[in-house]
Amino acid sequence: MNFEIPEELRRLRESTRRFVLEELMPLERQYADDPDLPDAVRNALQDKAKALGFWNFDIPRELGGGGVDNLGTCLVLEELARCLVPAFRTPTVFSPYVGPILYGCTPEQKKRYLDPVLSGDKRTAFALTEANGGSDPSRMRTTAVLEHDHYRINGNKIFITGADKADFVQLFARTADTSTPGGGVSCFLVDRGTPGMRLGQRFELMSSDRPWEIVFEEVRVPVSQLLGVPGQGWKLARDTLDVGRLIHGPKAIGRAERALELAIAHANQRETFGAPLATRQAIQWMVADSAVELNAARLMTYQAAWRADQGLDFHVEASQVKLYADDMLMRVVDRAIQIHGGLGLSRELPLEHMFRDARSRTITEGSSEIQRMIIASEFLSGRSGLNRFGQP
Ligand SMILES: Cc1cc2nc3c(=O)[nH]c(=O)nc-3n(C[C@H](O)[C@H](O)[C@H](O)COP(=O)(O)OP(=O)(O)OC[C@H]3O[C@@H](n4cnc5c(N)ncnc54)[C@H](O)[C@@H]3O)c2cc1C
Repeated sequence: MNFEIPEELRRLRESTRRFVLEELMPLERQYADDPDLPDAVRNALQDKAKALGFWNFDIPRELGGGGVDNLGTCLVLEELARCLVPAFRTPTVFSPYVGPILYGCTPEQKKRYLDPVLSGDKRTAFALTEANGGSDPSRMRTTAVLEHDHYRINGNKIFITGADKADFVQLFARTADTSTPGGGVSCFLVDRGTPGMRLGQRFELMSSDRPWEIVFEEVRVPVSQLLGVPGQGWKLARDTLDVGRLIHGPKAIGRAERALELAIAHANQRETFGAPLATRQAIQWMVADSAVELNAARLMTYQAAWRADQGLDFHVEASQVKLYADDMLMRVVDRAIQIHGGLGLSRELPLEHMFRDARSRTITEGSSEIQRMIIASEFLSGRSGLNRFGQP
C-alpha cells in the first residue's frame, strides 16, 4: 500500500502553505477582533488567489475549474485551516460555495446561477434548516405549492450561513404532503429581491459564524427555477452534505495540528518546579493522545477522500470523518489550552478562538448524534459492510 502523496499535490500543498503564511496569517488578529472582514480586504485576497491559480481549484475541469480531486482538496484545506481567517467557500478566497447547483442544473440554470458563482460574480447560500426541523427534515414546514407556471412558497429558514451576502438561495421546501423523511422535498433557486423573501434574525453565536433567518411569505418562483426533479431535493441535499462532511476532516486536522504545535512549543519552553513541562508525564500523555488522534483522523479522512476519488460510495465514511475529526479537534484544542495554563485562555493566542469554533462544528452540517445515527443505520441495516477499506 502506497501512502506517498503525489508530487503534484505536494507542490499544491506547499504553495497553499506559502499563501497562508504570507497573506492570511497577517490578518489573523484583525479577524479575531472582528469576524466580518471587509469585502475590500476579502476581494483583494481573492484577486491574489486567482492570480496564483487557486480560484476554483476543486471544481471539475469540465466546468472550467482546476479539477483537483478530493485528496488534493483535503491537503489544501488542511493548510487553510491552520489560520483562523476562513478562506474556503463561505466566506471565500480560494473557491466559492456552490452547493446543490453543482449536481442538478439545466443549461439555462447553469448560465444564470452556476457560471456566475464560479466566476465569483454571484454568491449563494444553502437553506435547509428550520426552527421546527434541523436534524429531522421530516418536520420541514416550508411549502412550495404548484400553481400553473410557478410555485407559491411560504415558510422560514434559520441558521443560514451567508444569507446576507447571497444573490440567490438554494431553498428546500415541501412539494408534496408526505411524512417520509425528506420525501416530497424539492430544491428551488430563489433570487435576492424576489417579492416576499426577506432576511429575519441574525444569530450571534459563540463561534465566529453569523448565520441568518430567511422568511418566505407568498413568494412566487417560476417552475424553471426548480433544481433537478420535483421531490428529489433530499438527494441533492445529501450529495452536498456528504462532501461537506468529508471536508470537516481536513478543516479539523489543520486546526488541531497548529494547536498541538503550539502546545509542544510551550511544553518545551515553560519551566515549573525546576524543569520544563515537557518532562512531566501528565503533559507527555496529553501530547501523545493528541498526536495519535490527529493521525487517526488524518488516515480516516484520506481514506474517505480516496473512496470519493475512485467514484465509490463514501456516505458512511463522510459521517465517520465528521464525527471523529470534529471531536478530535475539540479534545486537542482543549488539551492545548490546558498545557498553556492561563495563557491558553487569553486572547493573545488563537486557542480560545479555536475552541469556540470547534464547539460549533459538532452541531453544523449534521450534529454528532445525527452522524452516529447515520453510521449505525448503515451498519445495522447491512447497507455498509464493516470493512470497506480499499473496496466498494
Ligand atoms: C454556525 C452554523 C451555521 C449553519 N449553517 C447552516 C446553513 O448554511 N444552512 C442550513 O440549512 N443550516 C445551517 N445550520 C443549521 C445546522 O445544520 C443545524 O443547527 C443542525 O443540523 C442541528 O439542528 P438543530 O439546531 O435544529 O438541532 P436539533 O435538531 O433541534 O437537535 C438538538 C440536539 O438534539 C440532538 N438530536 C436530535 N435528534 C436526535 C435523535 N434522534 N437522537 C439523539 N439526539 C438527537 C441533536 O444532535 C442536537 O444535539 C447552521 C448551524 C450553525 C450552528
